[in-house]
Amino acid sequence: MGTGLIDLHVHTTASDGTMTPEEVVFHAARQGLRAIAVTDHDTVDGVEEALEAGSRAGIEVVPGVEIGVDYPGEMHILGYFVDPHNPRLQRGLSLLRRYREERNPRMVEKLRGLGFDISIGEVAEAAGGNVIGRPHIAAVMKQKGYVRDFDEAFELYLGAGKPAYVKKDKLTPREGIELVTAAGGIAVLAHPKYLEVSGDKSLQALIEELVGYGLEGIEVFYTTHTPEETDRYFNLAERNGLLVTGGTDFHGNNKEAIEIGKGAGGLAVSYEFLEKLKRRVGNRT
Ligand code: AMP
Ligand code: ZN
Ligand code: FE
Ligand code: FE
Repeated sequence: MGTGLIDLHVHTTASDGTMTPEEVVFHAARQGLRAIAVTDHDTVDGVEEALEAGSRAGIEVVPGVEIGVDYPGEMHILGYFVDPHNPRLQRGLSLLRRYREERNPRMVEKLRGLGFDISIGEVAEAAGGNVIGRPHIAAVMKQKGYVRDFDEAFELYLGAGKPAYVKKDKLTPREGIELVTAAGGIAVLAHPKYLEVSGDKSLQALIEELVGYGLEGIEVFYTTHTPEETDRYFNLAERNGLLVTGGTDFHGNNKEAIEIGKGAGGLAVSYEFLEKLKRRVGNRT
């Protein structure tokens, strides 16, 4: 049966969420969700714990990942039902974590140059896991009283083009999608609103290109999509015969306004979309 609500875009302490995989799963169960996908940045380290917690909490857990790839604006590829032990995926993700390790100390150095007393050790401690990102830097800055909140940290220092920003090396869209599909996963274009692409025609051309690389779905339902954008991306998915997914990008206290399953309040993603993903995976094996 297709009843029940889901959240297919959730971060844990394995990347830059503030709840452990187990905490996230039990939190989702308390919120009455039927299923969640754990989609940490550049790692599947939280997946096993989440799957195990899911069986105890009585909620379905989908193994996932989120990979940022090189494209104007932001292009993130979600991978669902990836095999977390796939060697090629493991190698690809550790390369991405190495890119982060090159970038993070440089951002911290820039902040020190701006007069802030902050060290990479403090940032690593704030991160806990082995994926360190800008939200962890923001957390230390907030804790030390250098900024009021995360938005201010990104607005003034950490956002693209701001004084402490350092660009991170990335995979190409093709490489990101292929990493997911090589691990048996379904590749989905996350939050398309953040792509810098002008007009329906260019967006359609881009989707066709990505489908050529193996893209199978679009994240139509997303916390910051307006009703008009949701309609637009739904039609785009339909027109291209793509799967439809949805999720909140829950990060715990690192994105305080976002609740699991609900986003900023109005999100409600039906289990039927997960059923279609499962059918696609099932037809492959
Ligand atoms: P990184 O992966 O290190 O480049 O950091 C990107 C992360 O920062 C993503 O999870 C974004 O969602 C998050 N992020 C970007 N802007 C903000 C903001 N204004 N407040 C909180 N988190 C943000
Ligand atoms: Zn994040
Ligand atoms: Fe994202
Ligand atoms: Fe995300």
